[in-house]
Amino acid sequence: HGEPSEVVVPTPNGPVTFSAFAPLVVVAGPCSVENETMIVETARRVKAAGAKFLRGGAFKPRTSPYAFQGHGESALELLQAAKDATGLGIITEVMDAADLEKICEVTDIVQVGARNMQNFSLLKKVGAQDKPVLLKRGMSATIDEWLMAAEYILAAGNPNVILCERGIRTFDNQYARNTLDLAVIPVLRSLTHLPIMIDPSHGTGKSEYVPSMAMAAIAAGTDSLMIEVHPNPSKALSDGPQSLTPERFDRLMQELSIIGNAV
Ligand code: PEP
Ligand code: MN
Repeated sequence: HGEPSEVVVPTPNGPVTFSAFAPLVVVAGPCSVENETMIVETARRVKAAGAKFLRGGAFKPRTSPYAFQGHGESALELLQAAKDATGLGIITEVMDAADLEKICEVTDIVQVGARNMQNFSLLKKVGAQDKPVLLKRGMSATIDEWLMAAEYILAAGNPNVILCERGIRTFDNQYARNTLDLAVIPVLRSLTHLPIMIDPSHGTGKSEYVPSMAMAAIAAGTDSLMIEVHPNPSKALSDGPQSLTPERFDRLMQELSIIGNAV
């Protein structure tokens, strides 16, 4: 509806604009914040490569209750340390509205994950606060359901919503974890003014497939990308198989700058 809108996010390094008319914004970082050394090191490496935001999970929505659940509040302090060290904006996920205030002391964008896309009470609460919201598509959500979830946030008074496609469930997950629906880019452009992000890391589940899908997303017109990066993927506490090394991420950023308008 109408012209694409922009979401302008203040960060210590200056404002970053998510918009169809602004340069591509790249968000990068590990699935989980594991310790101070790794998060600060990752922040430095992704910043040097051109990322504008560090994304790392403190509260993790894991399929198994026995899997690493994230370090929670103490991880928020580590994200603050990485922010202080680099000036990067921070993105982290909220799972429980009870944590929202603490998360917002550190984060510049609040992530609502795929599993909470239709947690309507959570959507109302992130809509009633000031930080921009990154709304990931539910793994089996239709586009209308996704847009209505965004509408909950807008209706609660927060106009700053970014829509993130992260792959959907289809009949075959043998080779790729999800089916990355890149057709949503032109579809969303025709249906909504909100900025678009593509997450090829969760979208494919395999690091070797991430670069080509990142490039395809730019070709299709995405406004931003989320890429999982870990200093030692084989040792990652979550999502190692889909995480790029800092070296591979740096190379990808150079490749992207040839086809896109990444800084
Ligand atoms: C994540 O971003 O690390 C995550 C858990 O993603 P999703 O909600 O898309 O599964
Ligand atoms: Mn992850």
